[in-house]
Amino acid sequence: MQENLKLAIQKKGRLTEKTIELLKNCGLEIENYSDRLMVPARNFPIDLIFLRDDDIPEYVQDGVTDIGIVGENVLFEKNTNVELVFKLGYSKCKLTIAVPEANDYNSISELNGKRIATSYPVILKNFLNKNKIDAKIIDISGSVEVAPSLGISDLICDIVSTGNTLRLHKLKPFIDIFNSEAVLIKNSSLANNSYKQDILNKLLLRIESAIKAKKSKYIMMNIPKESLDIVSNIIPSLKSPTILPLADESMLAVHAVIPSDQFWKINDQLKDAGASGILLIPIENMIL
Ligand code: ATP
Ligand code: MG
Repeated sequence: MQENLKLAIQKKGRLTEKTIELLKNCGLEIENYSDRLMVPARNFPIDLIFLRDDDIPEYVQDGVTDIGIVGENVLFEKNTNVELVFKLGYSKCKLTIAVPEANDYNSISELNGKRIATSYPVILKNFLNKNKIDAKIIDISGSVEVAPSLGISDLICDIVSTGNTLRLHKLKPFIDIFNSEAVLIKNSSLANNSYKQDILNKLLLRIESAIKAKKSKYIMMNIPKESLDIVSNIIPSLKSPTILPLADESMLAVHAVIPSDQFWKINDQLKDAGASGILLIPIENMIL
């Protein structure tokens, strides 16, 4: 029997929940995985391997696992020989250089001669080199934001989302240096194994359809017959909408798939065009 495709995902952290949700949206049945290193999917030839995110690029590079899901920040930082297959669109975050609230920094040249604490020395070094800045990188593995108050560094470079942690430590964002999202990576010689490559292709189809489905909604409404042209122009439909007759012959039912983020924008226009009974329904999967 052939071996399952091995997929490394983060054991416990900011990538885990969304990754498991994505895999479930792809139809994978995953057993309870707490405290287990490896869990096979019940209905798809894939084994999930649960690891610390830092280890994933290297494991994929060395073929310990065939594919993996990590943040682009970790992928870039680890500088391994793996292939980026697909950007997954979740766990978006950015690496930011933050400065003490009390200091005014106006240009990046003011970073010259400063000590910058970070857990991402490779990404930071790359940014500093590109901008010809000569600063000292202090490589620390966690709680980077306390470094300035401990006198270890002047500035920090860390993942910032809301900025609350920065404020708590009397720091403020100065410049964003890297944008990240979760990505699917693969071992660079996986294509030589046609059985596993085939499983990956099937998984990718499912991932693409699950992501598309999440970005789309099914809209249904009733409209006066004479508004059909106006309504058709308002709906940013993927394909032409479905038009159905109603018992009341002066009315029509219109169904269409629309991008989720357009709903509120078109809702008012639809109402002005006489649409009523507007329903917006989530789509579980979408194969185009
Ligand atoms: P591990 O124990 O596995 O090493 P970790 O503490 O290094 O975990 P997490 O904090 O769980 O890592 O973050 C994992 C990844 O999630 C980060 O590398 C980044 O890509 C992404 N991430 C981090 N912070 C955020 C955030 N605030 N919002 C969205 N995504 C984030
Ligand atoms: Mg980590």
